[in-house]
Amino acid sequence: MIRLGVTGTDTGVGKTLVSTVLLRVLRSRGLRVSAMKPVETGVKPDDPASDARRLQAAAGGDDPIEDVRPLLMAEPLAPWVASARAGTEVDLGVLDAAFARLAQGRDAVLVEGAGGLLVPVTRDIAFDGLFVQWELDVVVVAGNRLGAINHTLLTVRAAHDAGLRVRGVVLNSLSPETPGIAEATNLEALSDLLAPVPVLAFPWLRKPDDEVYVLDVAREAGLDALLGDRTPRP
Ligand SMILES: [Mg+2]
Repeated sequence: MIRLGVTGTDTGVGKTLVSTVLLRVLRSRGLRVSAMKPVETGVKPDDPASDARRLQAAAGGDDPIEDVRPLLMAEPLAPWVASARAGTEVDLGVLDAAFARLAQGRDAVLVEGAGGLLVPVTRDIAFDGLFVQWELDVVVVAGNRLGAINHTLLTVRAAHDAGLRVRGVVLNSLSPETPGIAEATNLEALSDLLAPVPVLAFPWLRKPDDEVYVLDVAREAGLDALLGDRTPRP
């Protein structure tokens, strides 16, 4: 089974977009997939543009939203902070049970974090800990802009320190405009600094709802390289 934990170098760098593309690629191979956003904050329950609804749709739409997104919090904050302000506490047992149901009988499961890898879910566990517990390999989504080198190296180092395997980094284009000097040089620099971890450039999607186009772009970007069977950790 392919088990992926998608994290980002920051919030708003394209985790959900890249996750939906990865799910589509997996489904195009005929695999049974499920997707999860364990905790989503700052959205209304029925918002079709929420991360969880987008993931649910990209995975095929079969799984109940209560499993795809067991916890929803009103304020757009880190889960631990949002829950503390709401006078509650994140129940990790609820997340574990939902994950187990989603993973049951699937060929691949993808979990999208919230914000970055060290965002606290509770006082004691961040997304790196959840990914370790659920035996997920990490895909890092990095926003291609000035600062990406530092943020990406920090994220990969934190993942490795947690004992996680990093399948690769997706350097995501954040606008359709012609890249500036930082955007144009980040790929080569990160590839060199992170080798042998693969770093892939993912372009701005002109037609995000066009299935054929999206799969073509994914193939050209080499996303398949992130979706092989799990190899044992060294
Ligand atoms: Mg997202």
